[in-house]
Amino acid sequence: MAKKVGIFGGTFDPIHSAHLILAEHAWEQFQLDTVLLMPCAVPPHKEREITPALHRSRMIQLAIEDNSHLKLSCFELERMGKTYTADTIQMLNKEHPECEYFFILGADSLFDIENWYHPEQILEQIRIIAAVRGDMERNDLQKQIDYLQERYPSSQITLLDTPLIDISSTMIREHVRQGKTIKYYVPKDVEKYIYQQKLYQESETGR
Ligand code: ATP
Repeated sequence: MAKKVGIFGGTFDPIHSAHLILAEHAWEQFQLDTVLLMPCAVPPHKEREITPALHRSRMIQLAIEDNSHLKLSCFELERMGKTYTADTIQMLNKEHPECEYFFILGADSLFDIENWYHPEQILEQIRIIAAVRGDMERNDLQKQIDYLQERYPSSQITLLDTPLIDISSTMIREHVRQGKTIKYYVPKDVEKYIYQQKLYQESETGR
């Protein structure tokens, strides 16, 4: 039987509780064997300065230490130059034909996906698991799913059954900068790491 593997890509700057809850629910709901948390190298969609990959991946490692079905994947970090989701999926499918991959994303990403590099390749090559986010109603997200499925007939997109969790990495970076608490927004060891390494103290460039 094919191994079922979730791919959860993101900047993870830093990883937070909503990411972890999403990954865990996707694992449970879709009976995945593993969820790969895959930090991206140079995010094609973000303009601010991104924290070095080493810190972002260490924080992921700390966050998932006690969970054997969540794994850090440096697949995108190890590639040179710009890494696109469409290429990542194609390469993984080719390298691991024994695996069935699922791509996990939040609603904001599902609404933006047509601006990504070759969205048709993403949507036709991999099953998508989408989670609600922000002030978006479940209905709005379902409408976007229906629209994408009509436009890309071989796509398979399923709504993840998760609660709305209004946490973002931006919010955490801002809290740190303003000296506000981030306790419970991120796992304890990630919180410690952020302070030890003095991350997110400076104001962000390009904003
Ligand atoms: P930033 O605030 O820096 O933009 P972020 O919190 O959106 O970061 P990313 O690492 O960019 O985090 O997100 C990776 C994936 O996780 C994206 O698909 C995003 O939609 C999803 N995601 C992040 N936070 C949430 C959340 N609170 N609810 C649902 N999905 C989320």
